[in-house]
Amino acid sequence: MDEVDLRHLRRCVELAAEALEKGDEPFGSVLVAEDGTVLAEGHNEVASGDRTRHPEFELARWAAAHLTPAERAAATVYTSGEHCPMCAAAHAWVGLGRIVYATSSEQLSAWLAELDVPPPPVRTLPIRDVAPGVAVEGPADELAGQVRELHRRFHRGGFSPARCRSGGRPSV
Ligand SMILES: [Zn+2]
Repeated sequence: MDEVDLRHLRRCVELAAEALEKGDEPFGSVLVAEDGTVLAEGHNEVASGDRTRHPEFELARWAAAHLTPAERAAATVYTSGEHCPMCAAAHAWVGLGRIVYATSSEQLSAWLAELDVPPPPVRTLPIRDVAPGVAVEGPADELAGQVRELHRRFHRGGFSPARCRSGGRPSV
């Protein structure tokens, strides 16, 4: 992981913070071409009620629609949190290249357990267990504190399920 990778990861953390400000789960991702061009970016939009609206899934489908197989294979997906199994599968099915994540699913699981967040309906697995052919790098230790704080704020800082229900937001 080099300085260019870290720059893209910092953008992912910014996107995660944007999601949080909109009342959504703090996850952000960026799709970067072989020549370094940022092709697309996004953040979680599960507050819409569709729990599959993860940015890595959206980027995989964007890549399938807009890139050739060779362009997909040479592209990198950067993300604030390691792909979930759904997104890792989509990434592999569309033939995207390297994944670089800021924080691992293992880290996130530990942080959410500390916050007493119920486990998700889909088992948390490392990308390599879902998509063994994908090159994966991470975590970036210097970003862990920031990402952890975003999740703490989402679950404890005014976006708790109780507040969501009373405030008319979708519960999380
Ligand atoms: Zn996902």
